[in-house]
Amino acid sequence: MKYCTRCAYPENHPLGIVFDDEGVCSGCRVHEEKDEIDWLEKEKEFVQILKPYKKRSGSYYDCIIPVTGNGDSYFVVDMIKNKFGLNPLLVTYNPQFNTKVGIRNLARLIKELDCDHLLNTVGPKTAKRVSKIMLKKLGDIYWHVLAGSQTFPVQVAVKFNIPLIIWGVHGWLDQVGMFSHYDQVEMTKKVRKEHGLRRIDAEMLIGEDPDLSAKDLQAFTYPSNIEIENVKLRGLYLGNYVRWDAQKQIEDIIAKYGYESAPQERTFNTYETIYCAANAGVHDFTKYLKYGFGKATDHVCRDIRLNRMSREKGIALINKYDHKIPQSLSTLLNWLDITKEQFYNSIDPFRDLNIWGKDSNGTWELKDSIINHVDDPGIEDVRLPVNDPRNYIETELLEPHLFNDDFILMGRSYMDEFNFKAIEG
Ligand SMILES: [Zn+2]
Repeated sequence: MKYCTRCAYPENHPLGIVFDDEGVCSGCRVHEEKDEIDWLEKEKEFVQILKPYKKRSGSYYDCIIPVTGNGDSYFVVDMIKNKFGLNPLLVTYNPQFNTKVGIRNLARLIKELDCDHLLNTVGPKTAKRVSKIMLKKLGDIYWHVLAGSQTFPVQVAVKFNIPLIIWGVHGWLDQVGMFSHYDQVEMTKKVRKEHGLRRIDAEMLIGEDPDLSAKDLQAFTYPSNIEIENVKLRGLYLGNYVRWDAQKQIEDIIAKYGYESAPQERTFNTYETIYCAANAGVHDFTKYLKYGFGKATDHVCRDIRLNRMSREKGIALINKYDHKIPQSLSTLLNWLDITKEQFYNSIDPFRDLNIWGKDSNGTWELKDSIINHVDDPGIEDVRLPVNDPRNYIETELLEPHLFNDDFILMGRSYMDEFNFKAIEG
C-alpha cells in the first residue's frame, strides 16, 4: 500500500486520493491553499454573497444552519449570527446514538447562541430497519445519519422558503482534496448522493423490508429539483470563506461558551464527534475493518498539515487507536438486535482485499500499515515544521462519560430517569 509521504493517508482512501511526484497526497496539497489564500478578501466576498439574504422581506429566517452537538456547530452559528449578522434557523437530524455530553453541548449551543432550533427524530424502529438494511447492503450502520442530516436541512429550506443553507467545512475537500478551495464548491443533490451517501438514495430501500414503506423513508427523501429551484436554494460551505482550523475554533468555543470536551475510545481528539457514540465508535471501526484505517488517522493527518504534530508521533497514535474494538459495539449490537457474528459477517464482503487478507487460520489480518512506512524515501523532502504543537484540552465533565453508556434518544436516557426515581422514592 502506498502512503502519503507527508501525512498518513493510504492510497485506498474511500473518498479517493491521488499522489504527486513527491508522494504527497491531494489532501495535503489542497491544505497548502489555506496559507496562500487571502482570507480577508474571502471574507469580504462572503459578506457580499450574504447581503441579499439578510433580512429578506416576508421571511423571519435569513438562512438555515445544520447543527449537531459538535464544537464546529458553535463556530458556524457564532460567525453567521454574531459576525455576519444573519438570523439563522438551526436544524438537527437526530442521530439517535447521542451521548450525554452531546445532548448537553447541543442544549448549550441553543441557549448560549440564543437561536430557534428544529430537531427531526425519525421513529427509532425506522432508524433501526434502515441501519440493518444498510449494514448488509453497504457494510455501513451510519447511513441513516448521513442521509438524514443532509436531507432534513433541505426539506426545511423548501418548507419554510429559506433560500440559503450554511454548512461548516467541506469534509472531502479537507480530508482528501477532492475539490480545491478555489472551486468554491456548493452543496448539491449530486454531490450528496455520489459522495455523501455511497451512491444509495432512499428510493433504493423500498422493498428491502416489508415493514419499511416509502412514507417511512420521507426523512431520507430529498426534495425534487423543482422544489429546490422554486426556493432558489444555495448551500454554501463556510470553510470556503474562512480559514478552517477545527482545533483552534473549538478551543475558542470552550473558552467562550463552556463547550465540554470528552475522551474518546478510538482517537486522541477530545473535541469532535463526542456528541455521537457511533461516529468515532462503531461507524469508524467499520471503516477500519474495510480500509485498514480509522478516525485517529484522519485526526493525525489534519494535525500534521496544521504544523501541530510530527508524522512519527502521528503514526504512534494511529498504532494505538485505529484497530481498537469500541466498547460501544455491544450497545450498537443491542440496538440493532444482531449478534457479533452477524455484524462481522456483514462487514467482511466489503473489506478491501488490497489491505486485508486471511492468515493460515482464516483470521483477517492487515497486509500493510503506516507503521511500515515510517522511513519511506522522500519523507524528509516534504516534511512540515511542527511550530504550533497543541494538546487537546479535557474540560471538566458535568456527568461521567462512559463508552458503554446506552444511546440517548433525547434529553436524558430512560435509565437515568429510572435511577432518579429510585433515589427519590
Ligand atoms: Zn497527505
